[in-house]
Amino acid sequence: MTKTPFWTSARLVILFSIFVTAVGNTAMYEKLFAWQSESGSEFFYVVTLIPFQVLLLTWIVSFLTFHGAYKYVLSLLLLVTAVSSYFSDAYGVVIDRGMLINTMQTNTAEARDLMSWQLLLYVVGIFILPTIWLFRLEVRGQTFWKRVGSHFTTGVSALVIAILVVLSMSSFYASFFREQKAIRAYSSPMATLYAGYQILRKDIFTPAPKELKRIGLDAKVPEVQDHRELVIMVVGETARADHFSLNGYARKTNPLLEKQAVVSFTDVDSCGTSTAHSVPCMFSIKTRQQFSISEAKQENALDVLNRAGVNVIWRDNNSSSKGVADRVEYQDFRSSKANPICDPECRDVGMLSGLDKYIADHPTGDILIVLHQMGSHGPTYYQRYPKEFAIFGEGCETNQLDQCSSEQITSSYDSTILYTDYFLNETIEFLKQYDQTFETSMLYVSDHGESLGENGLYLHAMPYAIAPRSQTNVPVILWMGAQHADYDLQRVLRAKDNNFSHNNVFHTLLGLFEIESEVYQPRLDLINLGIKKH
Ligand SMILES: [Zn+2]
Repeated sequence: MTKTPFWTSARLVILFSIFVTAVGNTAMYEKLFAWQSESGSEFFYVVTLIPFQVLLLTWIVSFLTFHGAYKYVLSLLLLVTAVSSYFSDAYGVVIDRGMLINTMQTNTAEARDLMSWQLLLYVVGIFILPTIWLFRLEVRGQTFWKRVGSHFTTGVSALVIAILVVLSMSSFYASFFREQKAIRAYSSPMATLYAGYQILRKDIFTPAPKELKRIGLDAKVPEVQDHRELVIMVVGETARADHFSLNGYARKTNPLLEKQAVVSFTDVDSCGTSTAHSVPCMFSIKTRQQFSISEAKQENALDVLNRAGVNVIWRDNNSSSKGVADRVEYQDFRSSKANPICDPECRDVGMLSGLDKYIADHPTGDILIVLHQMGSHGPTYYQRYPKEFAIFGEGCETNQLDQCSSEQITSSYDSTILYTDYFLNETIEFLKQYDQTFETSMLYVSDHGESLGENGLYLHAMPYAIAPRSQTNVPVILWMGAQHADYDLQRVLRAKDNNFSHNNVFHTLLGLFEIESEVYQPRLDLINLGIKKH
C-alpha cells in the first residue's frame, strides 16, 4: 500500500504564507521594529503582527488556489514576492497601484537601469528554487469539491483566528492600522496583491468613457496682438526643489540660472510621485484630489491651446508624453535618429536642435514647444550627465544604491541638477534670439521629486499620503522675455515662497497665451502674480 502524501494544496497555502512572511518582508520588519522602539509600543503586541500576516495571507491565498492550477498561482505569487521584496529592501520602494501602472509603462532602458545581481538572488531564492520544489512535490490527489471544501475551511479558520487576534488587542490593532500606513504598505506580497486588485477594479473593470471629454470649447487667442507668443515648457524629471541652489541649496547646482532673470518657486506640490501620474495631471484641469489616471480621458491644456490656434509640438527624451500629446505633434528624441547629442545616452539639450526650423516653418500663430526631459531619472544618476558635470566629488557609479554612501549618491544626483541648470540656461539663451520678434517665455516644472536614502528610502512613487516631502516638493522656474511689458519680475519674486501646486500649470499655460475661455481661472495663473494692475 502506498503512503498518502502529507501535502495537500491547503497545507501548501499555509506553508506559502509562513515562507513569504519569513523571507519576503525584511523592509517591513525593519520599519516595524524601528517604530516599536521609537514609539515604545508593547513589544509583544508588535510581534503578533507577524502571525497575523500569516493568517491574512492564508485566508486570501486559500481562495485564490482552490482549483487544479494552484501550483501556478503559488508560483506566480512567489515571483511577485521576490520582485517586490527586492525593491522594498534595496530602495525602500513600495509597490502600490501607481507604482504598478508606472512599471507597466516603463521602457526597457529604464528596466535595464534597475536590473542587478542582487535582484537575481531574490528571484532564485524566493521564486525559482521554491517553485522547482513545489512542482516536484507529490501532493495528495483530491477531487475538485474536496479541495474547495478544504480551502474554504482553511481560509475561514485563518480569518476567524485573525479576527480573534484583533479583538483581543483591539486598541493596539485599531491604532496601528489607522496610523502606520507606511509600515503596512511594505507587507509583501499583500501590498502588491491589493494594488493588483485595485488595478482590476479601477482600471480594467471600470469601463473607460468611450468619448474623450472635451473642455474649453470657447477658448480663443486675443484677436489683436502686438507680438506672437513663443513659449517653451520644460517638463522636468525627478528633480527635487531643495537641491536647487536657486532655492537655497548649499551646493552651487544652478550657477547659470542664477544669472538669469528667473523666478524659482520654492513651495510647489506635485500632483503625484510618479511620472505616469504627475505628467498627465499637471496638464489636466483637475486638481490632485480630483485627478485619477484611469479617468484621465479628458482633454488637457495642450488640446485647448491647439484648438485656440496655437502651434503645439512635444519633444520627448523621457519615456513618452503619458498620453498628454496624443492629439498634437510628437517627436521622439530618445535615439540618435532625431537627437544629435547622444554619447550614447541622448542628452536633453539635443531637443533644442532643429527648433529654428520648426519656428521658421510656422510663420503664423503662437507657438508652444514642450520638452520632456530625462533629467534626474534614477537610480543610474551617473549616466544622466556628461563627465564634465561630475564636479561634486566621488559619485555613485552603480544602480545598487545601497552599495554607495549617501554622499556619493547625492554627488551624482546633484550633477544631474547641474546638467538641468545647463539645459534650462541653453533653452533661455535660445529664446533670447527671438526676443525682438516674439513674446518669449520659459516655464520649467518637474514631475515629482526623489528620495536619496533618507530613512532608507530611495527613488520615488511612494503612495502620496505617506510620501516624504522630498518626493512631492518640485522645482518650478519661470523666465519671461523682454516683450512682456506688463510683467513685473519683482512682484512675482515676492510671491515665490507661496504655496502652489501642479494645478497652477494648466492655468499658467493658458495665461501665457492670453487665452480667453470659461475654463481659465486667472487666480491660478502664476503669470498673473506679476501683471501690473492698471
Ligand atoms: Zn518622473
